[in-house]
Amino acid sequence: AIQVEQLHKYYGQNEVLKGIDFRVDAGQVVCVIGPSGSGKSTLLRCVNRLEEPTSGRILVEGIDICDPETDLNAVRSRIGMVFQQFNLFPHMSVLRNLCIAQQRVKGRGKDEAVEIARRNLAKVGLSEKEDAYPAHLSGGQQQRVAIARALSMDPDMMLFDEPTSALDPELVGDVLATMKELASEGMTMMVVTHEMGFAREVGDKLVFMDGGVIVEEGDPREVLGNPHHERTQSFLSKVL
Ligand code: ATP
Ligand code: MG
Repeated sequence: AIQVEQLHKYYGQNEVLKGIDFRVDAGQVVCVIGPSGSGKSTLLRCVNRLEEPTSGRILVEGIDICDPETDLNAVRSRIGMVFQQFNLFPHMSVLRNLCIAQQRVKGRGKDEAVEIARRNLAKVGLSEKEDAYPAHLSGGQQQRVAIARALSMDPDMMLFDEPTSALDPELVGDVLATMKELASEGMTMMVVTHEMGFAREVGDKLVFMDGGVIVEEGDPREVLGNPHHERTQSFLSKVL
């Protein structure tokens, strides 16, 4: 589970997160929507300490990740992250992309890493691409490789930051299907997305952010179908 309490984040004088409280329980899928600049990526990046919170508490499986005593690498290795840009290593084959962190961070031997990599490639439907280089894959395939790479680290939870926003429309479905399958297997997930269909169908909770605060959150069908706040209504009227 992820618990965020009174999270504030400043960049210089600019307060971009203004006291965020929320939680993601084990096995839950929480989707985060909101206008550009509302702080969605900053929030996600604070959860695995890619950004340093200015104040507040973030507990991952009960462990305070801002505590100087906490082993940050141990925490991070339990949190998989998938970005809009796939961030694969371009000079490595797909298989190598999936093995490198397993070997370097998890200390796995090559054979074990390869076995786990192959299992996860099969899971995202790309077994036949293990020798390909990222440049020879479609964007959707690259993103599924990125998901398989994250899964190869055995994360307890996955963070997705607009994983389909850089994709051509016809490639979005495959990536969403992979994420949906992951959700159905019980993965704890936090997903920043513009895909309202995914949020409605797969999300257990939908969070609407604007101006560094959570304006509204709740059951996705409720938030999308019957938004209470004017700001939520106005945002949804533009994107739905
Ligand atoms: P988008 O939908 O465009 O991805 P977002 O909701 O993810 O937007 P963030 O990227 O979290 O928004 O940015 C929130 C605010 O913080 C913005 O005003 C942005 O300019 C500012 N910001 C983000 N990263 C930095 C940084 N490294 N340094 C300074 N300001 C930043
Ligand atoms: Mg963002």
